[in-house]
Amino acid sequence: MPGARARYRGPGTPRRDVERWVRPEIRALRAYEVAEPAGRIKLDAMENPYPWPAELLEGWLDTLRRVSVNRYPDPGARALKAGMRAAMGVPEGADVLVGNGSDELIQMILLTVAGRDRAVLAPEPTFVMYRLIATVAGMRYVGVDLRPDFGLDLDAMLAAIEREAPAVVFLAYPNNPTGRLYAREEVLRIVEAAPGLVVVDEAYAPFAQATLMDALAAHPRLLVLRTVSKMGLAGLRLGLLAGHPEWLAEIDKTRLPYNVGSLNQASGEFALRHRDAFEAQAERIREDRAALHAALEAVEGVRPYPSAANFILFRVPHGMARRVHEGLLARGVLVKCLDGQHPLLADCLRVTVGTPEENEAFLEALRDTLA
Ligand SMILES: *Cc1c(COP(=O)(O)O)cnc(C)c1O
Repeated sequence: MPGARARYRGPGTPRRDVERWVRPEIRALRAYEVAEPAGRIKLDAMENPYPWPAELLEGWLDTLRRVSVNRYPDPGARALKAGMRAAMGVPEGADVLVGNGSDELIQMILLTVAGRDRAVLAPEPTFVMYRLIATVAGMRYVGVDLRPDFGLDLDAMLAAIEREAPAVVFLAYPNNPTGRLYAREEVLRIVEAAPGLVVVDEAYAPFAQATLMDALAAHPRLLVLRTVSKMGLAGLRLGLLAGHPEWLAEIDKTRLPYNVGSLNQASGEFALRHRDAFEAQAERIREDRAALHAALEAVEGVRPYPSAANFILFRVPHGMARRVHEGLLARGVLVKCLDGQHPLLADCLRVTVGTPEENEAFLEALRDTLA
């Protein structure tokens, strides 16, 4: 019957089969959770709050009209790669790969080196996908605690690298969810000490204005990861990996053919050709970040941490984080509650820098909640 819902019949639930066949590490995982905004002001996911500049819309739609979606996309995404190289300052001599978001590139890197005895190492707390993808790839994940001020504990990192000989070290630069930008010399010390790959994840480059791209030539084990998500194109799903051609040729073998669709390729290429508009938005967000930080500092009981990204981590009085999160939700503002994710994040929440109006609405809701 057309439209009828399939109903499973037969002997009960597949629980026993699931227990028999699904890998135990997958059953132990919790799927990546995304909160439902439900009409609220959405400041939980580091999105750029501004839509495409109106003057670009027509040109973009024209570009899309010319795409032959009856054909497979360019498997090498050559035009897009050239645009991304130029926009992101990839040095000559380095190769690039593009992914369906940088998350896919993280997955490709780990699938390339995966093995049961192999370790993935990262300072903690950090971007949760490193652990999740390492687990899915069947690897051992080793977290090394940051210092209480969220700076790198370099001695602990170097000792763990020596002990674990990790296949891959991930350093988010600046880090998510703390916003902290590690010192460049510390990152390079880690690159020099690591026996395997060191992936410097520069998802927040438009807001940090700092990069290790220029260090690629001197460090063949260094890979630099970028995304267009945080600069205003999160819906496209487009990431870039830059590094030594020999490494990238191997990683490229784990890529599914046509991983970036032709509409995404055309959109990304068009957007990066007009990147001035997005750079202006990033500049605006950097200014508003400073204002938001100052305003948070003035709220009694709230301690914001310095951020080089488009979000601010802040601490509220002990035991209050969940109540503050609920209070903000009740007042129509969605932020991320990080309390419980890691001991160093106790009493912490993270707010994305929105438009000035959104930031003001958030601050008002926060003051009201804490009053
Ligand atoms: C948001 C984020 C990403 C995700 O990038 P996508 O390209 O959207 O998959 C990668 N790394 C870090 C550290 C992030 O915060």
